[in-house]
Amino acid sequence: MVITLKPGTTEKGIQHVLDKIKELGFTPHVSKGAERTIIGVIGENAIQSREIFQAMFIVESVMPISRPYKLVSREFKSEDTVVKVGNVEIGGKEVVVMAGPCAVESRVQLLKVAQEVKEAGARILRGGAFKPRTSPYSFQGLGEEGLKYLAEASEVTHLPVVTEARDVRQVELVARYAHIIQVGARNMQNFDLLKEVGRGKKPVLLKRGMSSTVKEFLMSAEYILSSGNYNVILCERGIRTFEDGTRFTLDLSAVSLIKQLSHLPVIVDPSHATGNRDLIGPMSRAAIAAGSDGLMIEVHSRPEEALSDGFQSIRPDDFRKLMKEIRSLAKALGRDSV
Ligand code: PEP
Ligand code: MN
Repeated sequence: MVITLKPGTTEKGIQHVLDKIKELGFTPHVSKGAERTIIGVIGENAIQSREIFQAMFIVESVMPISRPYKLVSREFKSEDTVVKVGNVEIGGKEVVVMAGPCAVESRVQLLKVAQEVKEAGARILRGGAFKPRTSPYSFQGLGEEGLKYLAEASEVTHLPVVTEARDVRQVELVARYAHIIQVGARNMQNFDLLKEVGRGKKPVLLKRGMSSTVKEFLMSAEYILSSGNYNVILCERGIRTFEDGTRFTLDLSAVSLIKQLSHLPVIVDPSHATGNRDLIGPMSRAAIAAGSDGLMIEVHSRPEEALSDGFQSIRPDDFRKLMKEIRSLAKALGRDSV
């Protein structure tokens, strides 16, 4: 349930409510808004204690949260969450574009493409150092060496970086170098990994599992928030359907639906969703029109030589053209884009 406190409630008053929640064996999650403080109360049958809180004079209202996900729901928090990464705000007015290669392949490759996407207007650099590959014989990523190149590229370009942690044991290492920790589609229901990134403070980019419903996706985000980390960005990256003309099926209705159900920012990855570089432009435009807060796009200076996902990577020249379109579309829709 959600307890909304009256405007002007003092710290002492808030503490009194928190103490009561804990005394009853529940877990409080505090969200301080401009005017009001709201407290999410998580625990089985918490709603049965509703009257105890309703009787407190500093409490304005006590409402049950009807959805299975609590902290990620709009019922818990009605205003949009804005995740701040350096000077970049994801979930605000700006359509934020994250771009870079599928995988970090070498220092030279990464530094070059990082500079190119930066000049075109990308706000965050992407690149995998730990790659989740279908085949154990495919390139698995450079590991820590790749993370070091990402950190260097970030220093040179001043772009924050997002990169994947594939396993609980990699989280601490990845967090040392990255500004955003990515949890990939194949790990969306790796609950130990979700709890681990949830215990940290680094923003998390959670990608939708390829066979997951929106509800399951939001439940996974709930794991991260309930572990204490509220800095979560959701990413729609296509789901498995009978359609095999594209790599996956980009579920754009999920973007609009999630924006209604949750306060968390949502971005779209048209690269993995389509697996086809010719569809990146149209799907990027469609994603923004559907209300996406940003995009994640794979860019490679020489896609034909890429060690992974070359067929869906666009060249820096095409990325530059796409960024121009994104900028004018964002503006037409009352949003900003660099
Ligand atoms: C990626 O973004 O590098 C990636 C592997 O994507 P996904 O987890 O969506 O397949
Ligand atoms: Mn890829």
